Amino acid sequence: MATLFGKIVTREIPADIVYEDEHCLAFRDINPQAPTHVLLIPKQEIPQLADAAPADQLLLGHLLLAAGKVARQLGVADAFRLVVNNGAAAGQTVFHLHLHLLAGRPLHWPPG
Ligand code: 5GP
Repeated sequence: MATLFGKIVTREIPADIVYEDEHCLAFRDINPQAPTHVLLIPKQEIPQLADAAPADQLLLGHLLLAAGKVARQLGVADAFRLVVNNGAAAGQTVFHLHLHLLAGRPLHWPPG
């Protein structure tokens, strides 16, 4: 059974897609926590980062490069934050690996 994000990949569920390539998809978060809040996901379903395997090395690198590309495309490359919530206790609610790309407001440290 595909997760919600798997259904966004297959277009069964609509999303505001801002970037797509062979391996990944980026779309705006439905409940944005910053003026720019994009979710970047691999098309291949990996439930959470801790489930990634050595065979996923190229894909994970690809995701980071794509995040930089999306940040440049959206005009926020000078200041943005990437977040990966891994596990329910860390705030993960959708079990299809995703990077949150947040920008457009001051991003304080440490995060909550
Ligand atoms: P998590 O809490 O798993 O790290 O992040 C899941 C994110 O998915 C949340 O920020 C939530 O707002 C977003 N989200 C949940 N359902 C949808 C949806 O149907 N469409 C979009 N675009 N984002 C969603």
